[in-house]
Amino acid sequence: MSICQLCHSSDISILQAKDSFTYKGRKIEFEVEYSVCNSCGREFIDSQQIQKNDATILNAKTFADGLLSSKEIQEIRQKLGLTQEMASKVFGGRVNAFSEYESGKIIQSVEMDRLLRLSSEFNQVFHWLIAFSGDTVGRV
Ligand SMILES: [Zn+2]
Repeated sequence: MSICQLCHSSDISILQAKDSFTYKGRKIEFEVEYSVCNSCGREFIDSQQIQKNDATILNAKTFADGLLSSKEIQEIRQKLGLTQEMASKVFGGRVNAFSEYESGKIIQSVEMDRLLRLSSEFNQVFHWLIAFSGDTVGRV
């Protein structure tokens, strides 16, 4: 629950506005979320909304890049029956990598993107990766 820092009212409305930016020569439109205090009219973006808006922007960029969205990465990982920690060991990357991809904090590399698509599409690839990293996966 947000509270207005100006008048300390908790009568806050959540609103959406269209915004856009240019990324690699393409105009990308997205919705930003912000708050308005109904008592004093102050507009502000709270920290949760900043995170949410950043994730929206990041997802718009991955879409423009033709990369998997954070939700698609999560779906692939779950389909493969991996926890976020296991996924990092199987596919490589830092321990936090998948929680960061899936919360929209960072964008996966093109290499990671291809590897995830391959593993999702071809079971043999995934099994090879599991076998290759098997020793470390077992210790998660
Ligand atoms: Zn206020």
